[in-house]
Amino acid sequence: MASKIDSAIRFALHGGAGVIDRTAFSTEREAVYRAELERITRIAYSVLFAGASALDAVELAVRELEACEYFNAGRGAVLNADGEVELDASIMDGQSRAAGAVAAARTPQFPVSLARAVLREGSHVLLTSAGADRFANEQGVAQVSPEHFIIDARRAQLADAKAAGRISLDHDERYPDPKKMGTVGAVARDTRGHLAAATSTGGMTNKRPGRVGDTPIIGAGTWADDATVAISATGHGEFFMRSVLAYQVHARIAFAGASLDAACAAALQEVSALGGSGGLIAIDHSGAIALPFTSPGMYRGWVAADGQVRVAIYRE
Ligand code: ASP
Repeated sequence: MASKIDSAIRFALHGGAGVIDRTAFSTEREAVYRAELERITRIAYSVLFAGASALDAVELAVRELEACEYFNAGRGAVLNADGEVELDASIMDGQSRAAGAVAAARTPQFPVSLARAVLREGSHVLLTSAGADRFANEQGVAQVSPEHFIIDARRAQLADAKAAGRISLDHDERYPDPKKMGTVGAVARDTRGHLAAATSTGGMTNKRPGRVGDTPIIGAGTWADDATVAISATGHGEFFMRSVLAYQVHARIAFAGASLDAACAAALQEVSALGGSGGLIAIDHSGAIALPFTSPGMYRGWVAADGQVRVAIYRE
């Protein structure tokens, strides 16, 4: 299908990287996920085409992903060891390098929008737990009861994880389960060439209460700088934090003159060397897109220079 084209616009989103066991994933189920990835990619592209900023587009896309209970963000997020949801999210503006993030929040209906409120208000970059929830109230950001986020499939997943004594990624390589979907994120380049990135997650099943992963850490799970690149990462957060993954991609481009593909590959190689796996989505200042992952699959949708909406799950 022919699409509208604006030479500056690029967009990409992810719904998590990990093991997606093709044999256990029915054709119907796969079609549902692909349709959702495509729907949200299309929405983001059309608002960018209408002139929305990259920052508005990534917030909108991540809100849609948070609202969808297939993904580990917002409603449908994974449960911690106490059977509760603790939500992490961040957003960054490549034009100003302003950033906002929240960690272990329990009430924002759309955690990415609370992160955006932190960015907008500007006094701080990262607010956590009860302080983040109180800030949502003060800023008039939509809040819901913590129960709103919990779905039955996540209760069952926590029970399995507890029985096996493990803390697992949403689609852990060792425990493949096609019902598990991942962390979400988006990166965009708007008609004016500005970049932005956002990421949102419930973290890991059976995590210790208070555990914070890479998602709300600027430079680890999220990064945007108009001069270099916008990044949203997904995978085992502890390794992404120890690699300062997103900033590392920026640094390789800014200081070593690396290409986008080479910078992403080297940064993910460092995650692998430490023992982690996962992936990232990236758009650089010139409009190049990279969607690499070291896990067997990564849910993703994107629009490159040709204006076509594409989605993929496996290495296809
Ligand atoms: N990076 C997330 C975390 O460690 C999890 C994921 O990407 O699936 O919290």
